[in-house]
Amino acid sequence: MAESQPVHIMGAGLSGLAAATTLANAGIEVHVHDIREDSGQRFDGDFQALENWSMDSDFFEQLKQWGYDPNEFKATEFSEVDLIHPDDEISKTYTPKIAYRIVERGTSDHTIDQGFKRMAIKAGATLHYKSRVKETDCQIIACGPKGTSAVAYGEIFKTQHPNHIAFQLNDKLAPGAYSYLIIIDGIGLICTCLWRKQKGSERFLNETIAWYQKHYPDIDMEPVKRVGGKGDFTINKNYFQDGRYYVGESGGLQDFMWGFGMRMAVWSGYLAAQDILGKCNYEKEVRKQLMPYVKTSVTNRFLMNRVGDRTFKRMCKAWMKHQSKTGDGLIWIGKLFRPNIFKSTLYRIVSPFMLRKDAKAMGRGVRRLPFRKAKKRDNWEQSSSAIEVGNRWNKIRRSGGRTSFSESSD
Ligand SMILES: Cc1cc2nc3c(=O)[nH]c(=O)nc-3n(C[C@H](O)[C@H](O)[C@H](O)COP(=O)(O)OP(=O)(O)OC[C@H]3O[C@@H](n4cnc5c(N)ncnc54)[C@H](O)[C@@H]3O)c2cc1C
Repeated sequence: MAESQPVHIMGAGLSGLAAATTLANAGIEVHVHDIREDSGQRFDGDFQALENWSMDSDFFEQLKQWGYDPNEFKATEFSEVDLIHPDDEISKTYTPKIAYRIVERGTSDHTIDQGFKRMAIKAGATLHYKSRVKETDCQIIACGPKGTSAVAYGEIFKTQHPNHIAFQLNDKLAPGAYSYLIIIDGIGLICTCLWRKQKGSERFLNETIAWYQKHYPDIDMEPVKRVGGKGDFTINKNYFQDGRYYVGESGGLQDFMWGFGMRMAVWSGYLAAQDILGKCNYEKEVRKQLMPYVKTSVTNRFLMNRVGDRTFKRMCKAWMKHQSKTGDGLIWIGKLFRPNIFKSTLYRIVSPFMLRKDAKAMGRGVRRLPFRKAKKRDNWEQSSSAIEVGNRWNKIRRSGGRTSFSESSD
């Protein structure tokens, strides 16, 4: 592409804004279009984790090398997390390094979305909100999920409790996935992820909150709002097609096992911009740098789909055993995310059966992880304490508490 031509980007999320910043810094005229009123609006105050275990390099070091400033947004580092086993045993995982950083998504100044927005504006990009453009009129497609492979629901609350993180593997509360608790500077989030499609999904969140209330009785909670979102997991035949770069979740570039996608969103946005600047070949670099991790995560997802609480318990025990041997809980989890020969072989065998063709993907050969059906064991009655959690939320909702994501949300 001739350098003088303006670049149009569809989507002002992490991948689109990262691409815009790199291009504008190189003197290219960039226009970013987003259908929403602002960057981050899709998430409305959700906490998310920037994982730091899937590769040797620290993510913030990568950001700096790519020319992005991590000081533009608030990020809280953690080296410790409560690991909650399916039988309710709670162990502590820890590392001498930074395990992950929690960032807030949304429209407040300190969110990662607004941080990337500021970087793009400073670099000289022009952002157009509430702007509907055609995919065929854009060079970079960065508009997040199209289909649904999984969903997450969470409740945000005020609390006096100090910062704390817990990660729970429990197939009843979070079918096929996990639930978590995050408390940062007086704001908490309890969230559950559903990798199997459910009717009346709110009961999973209510039951999860009731679980945390029972097992962490010292956490006071004043619910504020409910948040959530859908995840789209796809493998694409082409990541660059007909002059368009598919980045971030629009290119299916995220972790199929547990849904970590921010790192790959920024990374792929950066690579697309580098290609436009003539410094690399996007298709080649995505396949080299990102796809080994994505394929490993497809295999992990295949395995996760076949197990339940008994295997989750074995995983927790293996993780803790490895940690007491090595003194670093990050090594075991890191290995799970890293490519190896076994997983790449398994990927070739299982991926044709796991993924379904998306006929509407403009010839890009998109294959999506379908939202799996509920299992018999997902049918259970809410406990009385979960019903109370639901009633408490309904009262808050009636007096103005917002829910930004529901079963019928786009
Ligand atoms: C509830 C939830 C929790 C998550 N937790 C984590 C986590 O802890 N760690 C992690 O790494 N990842 C997490 N993820 C995944 C992560 O949020 C995504 O992988 C990441 O945001 C993808 O970035 P993106 O740039 O592709 O899309 P986004 O950052 O979502 O940006 C897409 C943008 O495109 C806009 N858009 C949509 N349609 C159009 C259109 N037609 N035209 C123009 N603009 C459009 C949207 O308004 C949005 O601003 C989570 C996802 C969900 C749903």
